[in-house]
Amino acid sequence: RAKFINKVTEVNKIYLENIIQEGDVVVDATMGNGYDTVYLAKKVGENGKVYAFDVQEEALKSTTKKVNKEELNNVELILDGHQNMDKYVKEEVSCIVFNLGYLPRAKHQIITKADTTLEAIKKGLELLKPNGVMSIAIYSGHEGGMEEKNEVYKYTETLDQNYFNVLCTKFINQINNPPELLLIEKKG
Ligand code: SAM
Repeated sequence: RAKFINKVTEVNKIYLENIIQEGDVVVDATMGNGYDTVYLAKKVGENGKVYAFDVQEEALKSTTKKVNKEELNNVELILDGHQNMDKYVKEEVSCIVFNLGYLPRAKHQIITKADTTLEAIKKGLELLKPNGVMSIAIYSGHEGGMEEKNEVYKYTETLDQNYFNVLCTKFINQINNPPELLLIEKKG
């Protein structure tokens, strides 16, 4: 079996496998080391496109290396915050992936923050096409993480169910603030 359910990122892929189609335009809102960017780029194929955002040069460097190694040319790497995604993405998208928190092993402890994350979620929901899905992996164990998680829930819990399906997936037998995954589908 190729898929595991011990990490939210792996669980996320079980969902994404059934959501993302060849030719889709998608957004990686938190590029980091580019693992999701590469996964998404392969999934959408050469007729699709991935817009990937990060505020750290380090993330762009590391992701550029991976993208080049895989010879992917359907990726646009953007050094800017995801809260500005509407400046770069001028078309409707099928999927937007957030992996919140900090970049493991990075030189600087730059974390995603509640206010900009919320702004990005709101803009992202506008950009999603009908039946498009936003996935948000949330980590609350680090400083500032719990605040961000609470704000994300406070907002997404109020999304009108006539327009959005909001699903939460979480480990209920893990200690130490296990990560959680939110999926938001814009209804057709
Ligand atoms: N998905 C990534 C991967 O595959 O390696 C890991 C992402 S990491 C958990 C979170 C990333 O969000 C960090 O690289 C951090 O620099 C970035 N970040 C922080 N604030 C941001 C913002 N406002 N806009 C975009 N990215 C941001």
